Amino acid sequence: MHQPPITHLASTDPDVAELIEAEATRQHDKIRLIASENYVSPAVLEATGSVLTNKYSEGYPGKRYYEGQQVVDPVEELAQARARALFGVSHANVQPYSGSPANLAVHLAFMQPGDTFLSLELAHGGHLTHGSPVSISGKWLNPVHYGVGRGTGRVDMDEVRDLALRERPKVIFCGGTAIPRTIDFPAFAEIAKESGAVLVADIAHIAGLVAGGAHPTPAGYADVITTTTHKTLRGPRGAMIMTTEEHATAIDKAIFPGLQGGPHNHTTAAIAVALKEAALPEFGDYARQIVANAQALAEALTAHGFDLVSGGTDNHLILIDLTNKDVAGKPAAKALDLAGIELNFNTVPFDPRKPWSPSGIRLGTAAITTRGLTEGHMASVAEWIDRAIASAEDGPALDKIAGEIQDLLSAFPMPGWAING
Ligand SMILES: *Cc1c(COP(=O)(O)O)cnc(C)c1O
Repeated sequence: MHQPPITHLASTDPDVAELIEAEATRQHDKIRLIASENYVSPAVLEATGSVLTNKYSEGYPGKRYYEGQQVVDPVEELAQARARALFGVSHANVQPYSGSPANLAVHLAFMQPGDTFLSLELAHGGHLTHGSPVSISGKWLNPVHYGVGRGTGRVDMDEVRDLALRERPKVIFCGGTAIPRTIDFPAFAEIAKESGAVLVADIAHIAGLVAGGAHPTPAGYADVITTTTHKTLRGPRGAMIMTTEEHATAIDKAIFPGLQGGPHNHTTAAIAVALKEAALPEFGDYARQIVANAQALAEALTAHGFDLVSGGTDNHLILIDLTNKDVAGKPAAKALDLAGIELNFNTVPFDPRKPWSPSGIRLGTAAITTRGLTEGHMASVAEWIDRAIASAEDGPALDKIAGEIQDLLSAFPMPGWAING
């Protein structure tokens, strides 16, 4: 059963209750390797489902447009203070509805329509909001992209510097959604300084690793840090923007009144809870275990002949180019899903195929690490992946793998679901 129990929902709306129970069961029974997903704690779920959802509070603590903020103000101040302490920054805005509006606020704060900014190419691991032609960031601004090296799969900092000095962008973004390697924040900071740009580190994927000390921090290097709060940070589906004192007002104004109305106070409370959890010493152990698992999985996959972009991983994420396996990303991902392994098809750098059916798959270890899997389990996970891809057309073989996976996972409790709950 779902934890906390959803008994009221079951009597008011059994249809939705049943679907939620089914999703909880699905999350319990599968090896979840989608790199942006995790399992949040029951405490985060309780805050997310609380009466704070009933309150409107446009503005910021102490400067609201509606009355009755006696409780909401301290909730938001708690989240802000915990973000500042955990990430070592001077200012935190915890109101962005999600990572995409957080990045839109950055564009609004520092650029006018048509202005130039620099970011990682989407097909090389960047994010839609970093200037993809289908996104508002690409339609209304002038993005210029750096990429990764063909042989190395890593960002070439000399290329970034050359582009920055030639294009003189207003903003430089570092970070992305499919980067298996450490981001060199000091090098980006130097280039931003030299070219007169604002440096924005989008750490949506790695925020939990940064908080837990398993990835270098952008604090002290980036002028602005944007992040979602789910992913490796293991909080609700919100976002934060952290800044130096200098840029605090511009970012706050861009969020409200620039882009948003009332903040989602239930999410703010859940962010505060997640930040408290992430400040505990055991969260550092968790972050290190995520990386240890990813590296063990990368090694085991390589032993099965899989071709990993950049040759491995420094963080939670692995990008596999399936070209040498004679299968595209999409059919592989669909077969894996039937086998009880959930991940996403993904473009790889210099992908000759189209984004809707690219050559790669992307994996992350944040969720399975929350379940309690460790390095010793990664050989089995790699073997299941290999078998499932090799028997993509063989329904019974995929069912057999799904059964083996359920057997393993039954020994690893899932936060948010309990057999006899
Ligand atoms: C996930 C992600 C976002 C956007 O977050 P949403 O919650 O999907 O809006 C932005 N930037 C990066 C790098 C991300 O990985």
